[in-house]
Amino acid sequence: MPCSISKELIEKTIAFHGHSCPGLAIGIRVSEIALQKLGQSGTNDLVAIVETDMSGVDAIQFLTGCTFGKGNLIHKDYGKMAFSFYDRSQSVGFRALLRPNILSGVAPELHALRKKVADGVANEGERLQYEDLMKSVQERYMNADPEEMFITMKPIFPVPRPARILQSLRCETCGEMSMESRTRRFDGKTLCLPCFEKPEQEI
Ligand SMILES: [Zn+2]
Ligand SMILES: [Zn+2]
Repeated sequence: MPCSISKELIEKTIAFHGHSCPGLAIGIRVSEIALQKLGQSGTNDLVAIVETDMSGVDAIQFLTGCTFGKGNLIHKDYGKMAFSFYDRSQSVGFRALLRPNILSGVAPELHALRKKVADGVANEGERLQYEDLMKSVQERYMNADPEEMFITMKPIFPVPRPARILQSLRCETCGEMSMESRTRRFDGKTLCLPCFEKPEQEI
């Protein structure tokens, strides 16, 4: 079943992200699943955990209302195309993982072309071929069945708690304030994370 999100909303999502790309399509499709399973934002207490920081996260922020600034978007830097969503008011959720074989057939070609383009050694023909391939991957994503694209499973992370308001402490090295939970004690001093990481590296 192709994407059920309106063309207009998809156009707005593309405008928010700045361009159209396969990664954004992944984010659009996983947002669609989240909204179908857990309801439109506003009627629930939606929170997302994303295991990548690439294009798709912009679609999630725009379409589901889970954003960094509101604290209901949590990034785990695992470099995986995996997205978990929860409705905190119901304590329900799921994790969707992009199927590893989703690009079988085109993956080796895509990888080779992407490398050439990134290294700046692709000729005009190869650049066009790469763009065509990216476009067809994007179309494949937008027209796939959700089950064809993602393995949907039970959540592996506990339901995230709402962010707590903590006091800020002054770092005894640089003097800047940082949230208590982000400070460390070292050699009898309260340090911010960047200052803490410096002496630690030297030991
Ligand atoms: Zn992108
Ligand atoms: Zn500091």
